[in-house]
Amino acid sequence: MTKPVIGILGGGQLGMMLCDAAKKIDIETHVFCPEYDCPSRGRSTYFSVGDYKNKNEIIKFSNDVDYITYEFENIPIETIDFIADQKKIRPGKKSLILTQDRLIEKKFLDELKVPIAPYKDLRTIDDISFAQDEFINGIIKTRTLGYDGKGQFSLKDSDNPSEVFSKILDNSIIEKRIPFEFEVSVIIARDIKGNTSFFPIGKNIHENHILKHTYNPISLSENQTKKLINYSEKIITELNHIGVLAVEFFITKDQILVNEIAPRVHNSGHWTIDACSISQFEQHMICVSGNEVKEPVLKNSAHMINILGEEIEDWCDKNNTETVKIHLYNKKEAKKDRKMGHVTELFSKEKIF
Ligand code: ADP
Ligand code: MG
Repeated sequence: MTKPVIGILGGGQLGMMLCDAAKKIDIETHVFCPEYDCPSRGRSTYFSVGDYKNKNEIIKFSNDVDYITYEFENIPIETIDFIADQKKIRPGKKSLILTQDRLIEKKFLDELKVPIAPYKDLRTIDDISFAQDEFINGIIKTRTLGYDGKGQFSLKDSDNPSEVFSKILDNSIIEKRIPFEFEVSVIIARDIKGNTSFFPIGKNIHENHILKHTYNPISLSENQTKKLINYSEKIITELNHIGVLAVEFFITKDQILVNEIAPRVHNSGHWTIDACSISQFEQHMICVSGNEVKEPVLKNSAHMINILGEEIEDWCDKNNTETVKIHLYNKKEAKKDRKMGHVTELFSKEKIF
């Protein structure tokens, strides 16, 4: 029997780990990426360098594969529209459109009645003056193309509204700063029949708005777990999403708020490679190829640490041990705060963080 070929738009580290996972479950991969030098090169079965906006290249790529997935949410919608058979695209266009723009995403969550942080669309200089009263020390976030805290800053009382406006134009929102106790993410998956399954819920620690640590498992009340699952299931089902999706949450003393959605495998799920019976990457490929979603089983408790920028120097000559698993992304330049790899520290599964 011929193996299914899954096309992956994007060649970053998430694509790389999707390719590695596909090999384990007898699926072939074809990465399409604008850069030749990218983490996925050498890891996929097939590899094409191309331009997302080149219709002929995208059509050729889509004809060569059985299904198409994406490893990041900023694939131009135009690219998706070039593909004649939209049913080939899994998770699907809706998940992309929604998560490419924070404002559209927030409106969707509001309509779903999923609680989120109070926010305001910043369209004029007056909106900024108003926000200085209503959203004291709130966080301005770019609506599009933001990741790892890029395009985010706090609005101060003393800031000059027109200066702030000239910086953001009309492409940002402001959010109330949430005094959360901790942050968690739910990594949930959905198959073509609509069955869902989620990984144990982990706690995330960010430094300078960038994920630094994920701990798993953690102690949550029954009520908290129920809400986290319920909101995540509502979101993935409403999107008719196929594959893995991550929902980031803020947990306060008495509230559970959705922070944002990622329509893909997620950094806070990397620990699943070493600590679960199947990883988030395998689960995604299982769902995208049309198979039934699996129930992951926890093998070990885990602490995942991101290797950022020059920290890579401390890890490139180290070897894996029984309990320390190093994953490097083969990126050429160790730019400040760039995700260069991650390490998963394993513990006996009785440990709860
Ligand atoms: P990104 O797309 O860069 O991940 P996020 O909106 O998830 O953007 O923000 C990154 C991190 O910044 C969050 O995980 C959290 O630690 C912090 N942060 C963002 N928004 C808020 C907020 N409204 N209140 C408190 N902290 C926030
Ligand atoms: Mg985030």
